Amino acid sequence: REIGKFDVVGISLSYELDYPRAVTMIGDSGIPLLREERGESDPLVIAGGCAITLNPQPLTAFVDIFFIGEAEESFREFANLLADVGQVRKAGWRKEMLRRASRIEGVYVPGVNDSAKRRWVSRLDALNTSSPLLTPNSHFSDMYLTEVGRGCPRGCRFCAASYVYRPFRIRSAASIIEHARSDDLEFPRIGFVGAAVSDHPGIERLCMEFAKRGKEVGISSLRPDNLTPRLRSTLVETGMRTVTLAPEAGSEKMREMIGKAMTQDRILQSAQMCQEVGVRNLRLYFMIGLPFETDSDADAIVELATGISKTFRRRISVRLGVFVPKANTPFQWQPLASSEVVERRVGVIKKGLSSGKNIRVFARSVREVEVQAIFSRGGVDVGTALYNWYSGRNWKRAFRNAGVNRQRLLYDRLSTEAHLPWDFIDMSFPKSLLKRELMKAERAAS
Ligand code: SF4
Repeated sequence: REIGKFDVVGISLSYELDYPRAVTMIGDSGIPLLREERGESDPLVIAGGCAITLNPQPLTAFVDIFFIGEAEESFREFANLLADVGQVRKAGWRKEMLRRASRIEGVYVPGVNDSAKRRWVSRLDALNTSSPLLTPNSHFSDMYLTEVGRGCPRGCRFCAASYVYRPFRIRSAASIIEHARSDDLEFPRIGFVGAAVSDHPGIERLCMEFAKRGKEVGISSLRPDNLTPRLRSTLVETGMRTVTLAPEAGSEKMREMIGKAMTQDRILQSAQMCQEVGVRNLRLYFMIGLPFETDSDADAIVELATGISKTFRRRISVRLGVFVPKANTPFQWQPLASSEVVERRVGVIKKGLSSGKNIRVFARSVREVEVQAIFSRGGVDVGTALYNWYSGRNWKRAFRNAGVNRQRLLYDRLSTEAHLPWDFIDMSFPKSLLKRELMKAERAAS
């Protein structure tokens, strides 16, 4: 069936670079690109996901209905509404769906609602949030992915996952084990999904339980301060060869500033532990261009990674991300670092680590980060630019013709009193919380 023949077409957007992909998908499918051009015979285009909850504004011209926050419950209500309204595509169907969907908590209908409340699920155990898709045609081909929790108790100030999925919740180990059993699937590997997997109080039990059944266990990222020797060796016994640590910054001062207090000693001890239990690859994540960062912070990354390489003597990959100010986080008002600054600091780190035989450095494209940051802080004018881009495929011209102020979006420090395009979303925590966290960061940096 052609996409345009479906009643509803849904798109999930995880991060900002999915915005142009979503526009391309809608346009290329033959569905009228702009929601205002759609008629009774066209599908309803719905969208949700982390990026949408942070800031849906750049897509309001293209999407009929947004799901803000976690959609398990709101989507069920939407599906019931669809059944209730019935007679899809009869005269007036679209209008009625939009009007009634706008009353569902956690749903935002552009042109109907002028505010929206983020919805979240209070009891994760009530849901089976596992992926039953085991296919060689996907990245995690033979891995059964199961969610162990949502949100993160750490509250790093740059991190969208911590704010968009507040409060931190876990699925009980018993429920995860039971759902894996009842799904009745054959899988050699299991992946625990969540922003704070190693903060799960039952993580050791879970690893041991699945190890007993001969499964290889995968965890996306581990926190050094809750990695016990037992957990680490269990992970290695279950076949985990790569451990990811994300110090994000090289010095303790910078880590305190971003809200990720981890001591140097603890990080080095974790690397030591990885060496002792036989981990083969260590992945280290750092971020460049953080607020209040100076050139000396690049040196601090070199120093920390060098220290780790003396302790962990197998393969180390250093991954350098670039800070992007995310809507609805304490650093939403902070600017993106200029490409010159980022490139200079990346250069310092690459040079500083070039003599390390077991270290390789990978850095993100600065150009891509700029586009991401524009969508992250953009309003409806960025949506106009997306429309222009779809027609002409030239970003520079698209932004210019839409009147987008790139300088302000990318490089200005915004006033904490300014009205921001995403302020109409009620995140279920006050904006004053973000301001307080920003002030703490400023104090830590001074
Ligand atoms: S520990 Fe990781 S997931 Fe948690 S808030 Fe910090 S960056 Fe985000």
